[in-house]
Formats: sequence, structure tokens, C-alpha cells
Amino acid sequence: MRHPHFDIVIVGSGIAGLSTFLYLSESEAFKAREISICLIAKSTVETTNTAWAQGGIAAVHAMGDDFEKHIGDTMVAGAYLNDIEIVRKVVEAGPALLNDLIRWGTCFDKNATNDYDLAKEGGHSEARIWHAEDQTGHAIQSALMQYLSDSTNAKVQENTLLVDVIKDTNGLFHLHLFDELNNIFFETTTSKLVLATGGTGMLYSKTTNQQIATGDGILIAEKLGATIENLSYVQFHPTGLFHDGNISFLVSEALRGAGAVLRNQQGEAFMRQYDKRLDLAPRDIVSRAIITEMGKNGEAFVLLDATHLSTELIDQHFPAIKAHCKTLLNIDITNEMIPVVPIQHYSCGGVKVDAFGETSVSGLYAIGEVASTGLHGANRLASNSLLEAIAFAKFATEKLLDFPADQQAVPVTFKLKCHGIDRNQIQQLLSQHTGIIKNTKGLKAALSALQNLKSNAIDVAFNPHDHTSGVLLEVGIMLIEDALKQQKNRGVFYNEDLVNDFVL
Ligand SMILES: Cc1cc2nc3c(=O)[nH]c(=O)nc-3n(C[C@H](O)[C@H](O)[C@H](O)COP(=O)(O)OP(=O)(O)OC[C@H]3O[C@@H](n4cnc5c(N)ncnc54)[C@H](O)[C@@H]3O)c2cc1C
Repeated sequence: MRHPHFDIVIVGSGIAGLSTFLYLSESEAFKAREISICLIAKSTVETTNTAWAQGGIAAVHAMGDDFEKHIGDTMVAGAYLNDIEIVRKVVEAGPALLNDLIRWGTCFDKNATNDYDLAKEGGHSEARIWHAEDQTGHAIQSALMQYLSDSTNAKVQENTLLVDVIKDTNGLFHLHLFDELNNIFFETTTSKLVLATGGTGMLYSKTTNQQIATGDGILIAEKLGATIENLSYVQFHPTGLFHDGNISFLVSEALRGAGAVLRNQQGEAFMRQYDKRLDLAPRDIVSRAIITEMGKNGEAFVLLDATHLSTELIDQHFPAIKAHCKTLLNIDITNEMIPVVPIQHYSCGGVKVDAFGETSVSGLYAIGEVASTGLHGANRLASNSLLEAIAFAKFATEKLLDFPADQQAVPVTFKLKCHGIDRNQIQQLLSQHTGIIKNTKGLKAALSALQNLKSNAIDVAFNPHDHTSGVLLEVGIMLIEDALKQQKNRGVFYNEDLVNDFVL
């Protein structure tokens, strides 16, 4: 058993965790070795959703664009349920945040005149998406990771699962951790705890997310007493690659930004029936249109047509999408259409935080996809999530460095329980009843089935897979309870038994 203490523990090694670390490491206190930081990741540091982000990161840069337009697009996508003050704060910080990413070594694509080559995506009225081919997340992840190894007053703990947290009466957080390589538990205390644990994609059978996305931070924050909100605002990406295997690959929105068109299997470009912004309408609208179209024609997928785009453009901007379509389906996207279906993608809700990333529990922060900051409202605008993560990492820095006076640890006892729960059953229930179009009967049936799974679960010896299946079960229940509380259909949330706040 190890019992070290750190001033700050960051859980997560995606853009949220790494940029929080980088901003803190630039502080005078860190440079003077006055503070200690530990960064924990349940898998390897590079295994994150961040590394899989394709399209890019949104920020105003080019002529013709301005903050008001980016703010307006974010509000429209979010069905005006966004917090306007937060939207303004994040959007106005955008250019400086992009400079930080560049300063830390991220190389974004440039055009022939040596200016940044910005793309346009769904819901954006201007081209403002900074990208590195169709592997922007990988470029950001690799750049930020380089700094971790250089710091001697920071500890990086990979393959280490945060299992539980207790806050003692003196305000210190006690972390119960499982070292997966050595198969041992250990404990650590910290004054400030940053949850940068990402999303909840593993709740669904088909998701764009990595296996690590099991909603751990949400359950930990909830147990500590933090407010959780809008978990049922789940964004589905309109264009997941349709294939029978287990890998769920995303076909970036940027391909539609470059001119690719959605067609039903009769070849009809159907988006004109649904929204005047056509294929670049916000994701909730495009996803519902696809589901409606598939239902009308009894089809299992629709087609994304990029065959009219030049091979040169595809090779330059979408090499990974082209390669994946070839490997997984033996399709050459320059002359064959791509079969696509909407697929779980992003959690718009999460742990409620203030304008500095702090939750309702003092000293507990949530940054990145795990958080609900008010930026997204009822639907995230494409490429605003990477921006949100780095923005709140920066906003949190000053508050994180403000430490309480001498805190003595009070001993605590962790009660470890692990149950054998069939993860597939959870995923099937959530996929069937909490998808793009829900109904109240289905939600209630899924809730009752999950509660049965919980009451019939048998105790098993601790192992990370069963532990995280238990987390998924609890977070799944919270998500459905949240869905049943919703009064209106807004943004990504659609229950066919409720009143619409929008017109499809
Ligand atoms: C395929 C794909 C494409 C995307 N494209 C874009 C895009 O183009 N633009 C955009 O803005 N957004 C995009 N997104 C969304 C965006 O990538 C994510 O929202 C963002 O990267 C989340 O970053 P994060 O740091 O919050 O979490 P992540 O990057 O997912 O990192 C989570 C970290 O938490 C750790 N962790 C979790 N639980 C525990 C635990 N219990 N103990 C220890 N460690 C734990 C994990 O190990 C991991 O290190 C995309 C997402 C996907 C999946």
C-alpha cells in the first residue's frame, strides 16, 4: 500500500487532463517546485477519445468570421439552452487557446498562401475548424504528451484505475486506485481533484468512443455530492460507418463540409426535405432525418456520396477515412458511396461546473467531456468539445493553485464491492430505448430492467471490466432518470410522447 500526497491529482490523459497539466506546469508555483501533481490514466496515456478526434477544433481566425457568429452558431445548435456567458467566455478565448496548442507543438494544416486552412462543419456559418488532415486529435494528443516526461515534480501513473473517492472531514480527497499491471490497490490523497475522465460511449452497443469511455467520473462526482445534469442529452454522430464488425468508425462531418452529400438507397439527396442548411444542418437534425429516412424506406443505412469530390482533395484531407473504408468495407470512396448510420458520439451533459471548472463540491473539478459547462446547451456544435476542454483547463488554473491552509488527512475506509454484470445487456437496453428517438414506455421498461440487473447482481472478485460495467449500470440508470424528467424535446433530446420545441 502506498500513501503519497499530491497537491493536485488529474484523472485523465486526453486534451482536458493534459492541457490542465500543461497550464499548471507553466505556473511559478510549479516551476519553483512548490506544488506536486499526479496525472492518472486507466489505460496508456495515449488511449483517449481525444486521440480519435478527426475533424478539428473550432476557433475564430479568418476574415469574414467574428466572435458573434461563432457564439450565434453555438446557441442555435444548443437550442438556446446554452449559458450565453459561458459561450462568450469560451468563444472569445478561442484564438489564444489555439495559440497555446500551436506553442505546445500542434501542427495544424496550412494552405498554399501559408495561412491556416480552416474547414467548415455542420452548424458553422463560417470556416473556423482548425485541423491536421482528418487526424486532428492525434496531432493534439501527441504534442501535449511530449511535455509529461519532461517534468520531474509531476508523476504519471498509467494503467491505473480510479475506483472510488472519499472526501474526509478536513476536505482532503482520498483516492482508491487499482494498478492494473501489478494487480494491486493503493491510496493517494490530494487537496484538489480534477476529473478529466471523458464520456459515456460504452453505454451503447455502437459508439465512436474508445473502450475507456465508461462514465467513471460522473459516478464518482455524484457519490461525492456534485450536481449532475442533462445526462440524457446524448449526441449521435450522423455518419458512423455501417458495417458488421465491432469497430465503429466515424466518417467526419468535414467530409460533408467539403461537399459530400447524404442520399437514401434510391439515390435521392434527402436533406432538402428536412432543413435548409441541407447536409450541414446541426447533428441532431441530420441524425433524426437519417433515422426517419431509414424508417420510411425500411433501410438499414443511408449513403454518403463523396464520389464527385476530386481524388486529390480526398487524399489530401481525408486519408484516414479513405483507408478505413478500404480496409473495413473494401470501398474506394472516390468512386463508391459510403454506407452510414447515426451512432452514439458525445455526452453533452455531465458534472455541472462553474465558470472555472469547479463542481458544487469544493476542490472537485470536472473538465472536458465529463463536465456540463453550459457551452453546449441541448446539443454540441461540431468541434466545440476540444475547444471547451482546453478552455476550462485554462480557466481552472488560477483557482486550482489556490490551496487551503494545512490540511491533515483523516483516516477513511473504502468499502469495495464488485458485481458480475453483463455489459452487453446494459448496452442493448440503452441502445434500444435511449437512442435518437425515444418514448416514455421504452424508457420506463429500460429503467426497470436496469434496476432488476442491479438487484440481481452477484458479488465477484474485483476486476476492472466488471467494476466499470457496474459504473455503466449506475450511469445508465441516471441517464434514463434524467430522460424521464425532461418536459420538452430540445436539441439532441427527442421523446415522441413529448411536445416539440423544434420543427423537424
Ligand atoms: C471518433 C471521435 C471523433 C471526434 N471528433 C471530434 C472533433 O473533430 N472535434 C471535437 O471538438 N471533438 C471531437 N470528438 C469529441 C472529443 O474528441 C472528446 O469530447 C474529447 O476528446 C474528450 O476529451 P477528454 O480529455 O474530456 O476525454 P478523453 O480524451 O476521452 O480522455 C479520458 C481520459 O480519462 C481517463 N479515465 C477515465 N476514467 C478513468 C478512471 N476511472 N481512472 C483513471 N483514468 C480514467 C482515460 O484513461 C483517458 O485518459 C470526437 C470524439 C470521437 C470519439
